[in-house]
Amino acid sequence: MAERALLGLFAHPDDESRIVGGTLARYAGEGVRVSLVVATRGEAGSCGEPPLCTPEELPRVRERELAEACRILGVREWQLLDYRDGTLADVDRGELTGQLVTAIRRVRPGVVLTFGPEGRTLHADHITVHYAATAAFELAADPMAYPEQGLSAHTASKLYYTTLPESLVHAINWAYPGIPDDQVTVALDVRPWLDQKKRATNEAHRTQAHDQPFANLTEDARWVALSTEYFHLAATHGIEPAAHEEDLFEGIEP
Ligand SMILES: [Zn+2]
Repeated sequence: MAERALLGLFAHPDDESRIVGGTLARYAGEGVRVSLVVATRGEAGSCGEPPLCTPEELPRVRERELAEACRILGVREWQLLDYRDGTLADVDRGELTGQLVTAIRRVRPGVVLTFGPEGRTLHADHITVHYAATAAFELAADPMAYPEQGLSAHTASKLYYTTLPESLVHAINWAYPGIPDDQVTVALDVRPWLDQKKRATNEAHRTQAHDQPFANLTEDARWVALSTEYFHLAATHGIEPAAHEEDLFEGIEP
């Protein structure tokens, strides 16, 4: 049986833990080969409150934090690209897309995960990764694209965007856009992996831990908001897209 593989494409160390930490831990625990590409070292972020390092040390510290989060979540492979935090909207888009194409062709995943067009928090780096990843999902499959990479084309089966349903956005007063509830393809209950998600967010990404996801909520409401991770199926290759699914690998031949 072919090994199942999932590749997440994100902008900063901690995006993976905060947004899809439960999903990554779940699939890693099921034996899926889970890999990540993170475009920057997050050096424009906080050094912690109180500071845990100097701004000069922050890129290295956040790299180690990502490594620790991956260990907690069971993510086997991760790669940091050398882009500067906060600059992705200004970089050569073809080059960024090419780096993500390289990653898809190397990892050869069935499932690719990335931000939706709202970039979760409208962060320009997140939105840029969204567009580059969406293009890379198609271009990785095209042997005519980026031939100079010397890598054989790879047709990933599914591209998902992380998202939040509008009903939840309204219920928790989330400050950023979601998508209509009926556009949510998969709502994954990650309660069994919530402890891993919280440890990756708080104990691994320590410099960012003072800025808790859904910090405006009561503890009960936070628990609800963190316990389900939502995905929109944005594109498929070789399989019929379904409106609603239970599992990111649904419909993919093992
Ligand atoms: Zn981010």
